[in-house]
Amino acid sequence: MDLFEYQGKQFFASHGIPISPGDVATSVAEAVEVADKIGYPVVIKAQVHTGGRGKAGGIKLAENGIEAAECADDILGMDIKGHTVHRIWVEKASDIAEEYYASFTLDRSAKKHLGMLSAQGGVEIEAVADTDPDAIAKIWVDPVDGLDETAAREWVAAANLNPAATEGVVEILLKLYTAYVDGDADLVEINPLILTPDGKVQVLDAKVSLDGSSVFRHPDYERFDATQPRDDRESIAHQRGLQYVGLEGSVGVIANGAGLAMSTVDVVNQVGGSAANFLDIGGGANAETMAAALEVINNDPGVRAIFINIFGGIVKGEVIAEGILGALERVDMSSPIVMRLDGTNAGDGRAMLEPKLSDMLMLADSMLDGARKAVELAGDAP
Ligand code: GDP
Ligand code: MN
Repeated sequence: MDLFEYQGKQFFASHGIPISPGDVATSVAEAVEVADKIGYPVVIKAQVHTGGRGKAGGIKLAENGIEAAECADDILGMDIKGHTVHRIWVEKASDIAEEYYASFTLDRSAKKHLGMLSAQGGVEIEAVADTDPDAIAKIWVDPVDGLDETAAREWVAAANLNPAATEGVVEILLKLYTAYVDGDADLVEINPLILTPDGKVQVLDAKVSLDGSSVFRHPDYERFDATQPRDDRESIAHQRGLQYVGLEGSVGVIANGAGLAMSTVDVVNQVGGSAANFLDIGGGANAETMAAALEVINNDPGVRAIFINIFGGIVKGEVIAEGILGALERVDMSSPIVMRLDGTNAGDGRAMLEPKLSDMLMLADSMLDGARKAVELAGDAP
C-alpha cells in the first residue's frame, strides 16, 4: 500500500519525526487558505504515486497569495507520468544547505532490514547506485536486535555527511527505524533529508509503503487504504475482500491461491490469449466468494470468456462444485465459463457439475486444455 507524500509525512509525524507545517488541498481556494494560514513562502507539491515530481513541474515555490493561486492552478489537473493530480500538499518552505538520502527496506536475501544513507540526496538513489555506489552507506539491521544508537552513529559517520548534521540525522534515523518496524512498513524513504543553513535536519519528502496485510493491527490505516487508486473493477473487488488486479485482456481468470492465479494468467498468455484480470479467491472457495468473484468478472466489459482454475488442496472438490452452482443461481452470466477442477475429491465435484454443463459452463481436462478452450471462446486464439 503506497502512501502519498502527505500521508507519509503524517505517518512520520505519528512516530515523532518532525515535519514542516502543512495541509492538503484539492482546490485553488483551499490551497491559498492553507498557505495564508501557514505563512509565506510556501511550497506547493503535487500528490501522486510517483517520484520525480520536481523535474515534471509538480513542485513550486510561492511567495504570496497570488503566486500560491497560480501554482495551485498550474499543478492541479497536471499529468505526471500518467498520474493526474487531484490533491496538493502546501507546506512551509525550507531553506536548504544540503540534501541527503535515507531509507529502510527489507533485504530478503540477507534476512535483515537494510538501511541506506547518502550525502547525495535529492536525486534518484538508483542513479547514485549506478554512478557512485560508494556514496551510499549501508547498514544491515538484525530485526531481533534492532538498531541501537552506537550502530546508527557508525553508519552516519560512514556516510560522510556534514558534521553539523550528525546529531539531527542520528535522531531521525532511530525514529525512522522504529516507524518502519512498528508501523509494519515495507519501505520508508526520505529524499531529500535536508540540512538547513542554520544547522537543522528536516524531512522534505516522504515515500512510504505499508504492508497491506497489517491493517488489522493498525485500524487508522483505513484512511490510507481509502485513497488507494483503483479502477471500478478493482474497487468492487476490494469491497468484496477479493485479491484482484485488473488487466486489459478478454479472459476472466479465477483461481485459488496466488501462485496458481499467476500461473493461470501465464498459461492464458502462453496459448495466445490475454487475461482480463488476476483473481485469487483463496482457500475457502464457498458460494459466497465464488459469487462475488463471478460478479466482479461479469461486470468487466472486456471479458468474453471465463477460466476458473481450481486445485483442491484443503478445500474439497464437492465444496467447490457447490460454490459454483450456488454462484450461478445468483449471478446472471454473460460470458461462458470453462472450469478446470483437480485435487482432493475432484471426481465428486466434477460429477456434481456434469448435469449442469452447457455452452455456458464447460469442464476442461487440464489447466492447459482449459486455457485453450477459454481463449478460443474469447475469440482471440492465434
Ligand atoms: P520529488 O521530485 O517527487 O522527489 O519531490 P521532492 O519533494 O523530493 O522535491 C524535489 C526537490 O524540490 C527537492 O529535492 C528540493 O530541491 C526542492 N524542494 C522541495 N521542497 C522544498 C522547499 O521547501 N524549499 C526548497 N528550497 N526547495 C524545495
Ligand atoms: Mn523526493
